[in-house]
Amino acid sequence: MSGPSRFEPPVSAVSEPFWEATRQRRLVLQHCGSCERAVWYPRVMCPHCGHADLEWREAAGRGVVYAVSVQYRAAHPGLADRVPYAVALVDLDEGVRMMTSVVGCAAEDVHVGQRVRPAWEPLTDGRHLLLHEPDGDEPDV
Ligand SMILES: [Zn+2]
Repeated sequence: MSGPSRFEPPVSAVSEPFWEATRQRRLVLQHCGSCERAVWYPRVMCPHCGHADLEWREAAGRGVVYAVSVQYRAAHPGLADRVPYAVALVDLDEGVRMMTSVVGCAAEDVHVGQRVRPAWEPLTDGRHLLLHEPDGDEPDV
């Protein structure tokens, strides 16, 4: 242990079910009971149709890299020993786009169109941070 600790995201009332699931390395996403679309990030109303009947459902969390940016300067002191690292927008198979970090390979190797799967990083309070890593189903290039 050395240096400042990593930023640990706060839990809000609306995001609590998401964070509780991460304790078991499970991903849950809200689904709208009216328009049947997935919702990310956690909210009180569906951003697609405005209805408030959102329910939590299990999600696999696999997806495809939509965009990636390699960071050579740490955005937070707790990330200083990780540069360079890849911040990516990933389109999950469940139909939502989320910002994440792709780990488990060189940051410069992360590319648009790459299949990724969840990679859970432990936080100090038992929760896990949702990151992504290359999906093993994808053939190496
Ligand atoms: Zn809706």
